[in-house]
Amino acid sequence: MIRDHERKVQERTKDLDRKVQELTETKTAVLNMMEDMEETNKNLVKTQQQLKETLKELKESDIKKDEFISIAAHELKTPLTSIHGFSQLLLSPGIAADEEKRGKFLRIMEKESMRLAKLVNDILDLSRIDLGTIKVNNEEIDTSQLMDDVEREMDIPMKERGLRSEYDIEKGLPRMVTDQEKLREILINIISNAIKYTPKGKISVKVQTEDGNLQVMVKDTGIGISEEQQKKLFHRFYQIDSSYTRKAGGAGLGLALSKEFVELMGGRIWIISQEGKGSEFHFTLPIKPPLARPAIKPV
Ligand code: ADP
Repeated sequence: MIRDHERKVQERTKDLDRKVQELTETKTAVLNMMEDMEETNKNLVKTQQQLKETLKELKESDIKKDEFISIAAHELKTPLTSIHGFSQLLLSPGIAADEEKRGKFLRIMEKESMRLAKLVNDILDLSRIDLGTIKVNNEEIDTSQLMDDVEREMDIPMKERGLRSEYDIEKGLPRMVTDQEKLREILINIISNAIKYTPKGKISVKVQTEDGNLQVMVKDTGIGISEEQQKKLFHRFYQIDSSYTRKAGGAGLGLALSKEFVELMGGRIWIISQEGKGSEFHFTLPIKPPLARPAIKPV
């Protein structure tokens, strides 16, 4: 009888042990599930935050695009209005008969249409950059020849403004593999700016090579740029409000585009300047673009 009872107690105890074991396992499983849920929840919150940020960025870039279109349209209107105005004047019989006035107005129209064409090209290039469809046409170029051409081209406006120029170009510059047209445009933009914003004095251009890079510095004795203005200098359509800027008649795209080009071509651009004390624009470009990574051969 007692034996029977003991056996039963033993069985109950085993039964209880099994149940405790089962409960412990269930508890561990529930705890694990809760941990998983907590992790999933955290991830969800993170994803939600990322989505919010992406939405904000999209909205901001939409606003920026609208702003870009509105400023671009405004800038395009200025030369267009001028061309339209002068063509109307030329159509009036009195002016058509006046050779001197006719010549003067036609020259203004020519200048304004060139400005319009440059503006359209700059805007197209910027939009190609945004769309990722801009092409860098790398080719082997005669660097010294390019520098000579730029020097000759800049000589005319330099003399017109009564400025002295000094070119310190390293002898026997190596041939570069780069986009000649873009490099030319960067140089012309920066040297033209130096001329535009220097009432008197000197423009110095120094070109040398170091560590596989072409290093260019354009220094002027002009009006200079404050630290605050330097921060926005490479932004699209940014112009420092001054009588010089108004007279120069640019659109504030030259430096933005130069920066985009330099970076596309693997270089860097920066400025050292002090208001009232002139400016130094520097940029570097690799003499040869970094080698494309070799394609992985299929096994
Ligand atoms: P812009 O066509 O108006 O010259 P940029 O993008 O080339 O446009 O230059 C932006 C602004 O930076 C100019 O409007 C001018 O105020 C300022 N800037 C550029 N270069 C110089 C310089 N060398 N000295 C002083 N100010 C400069």
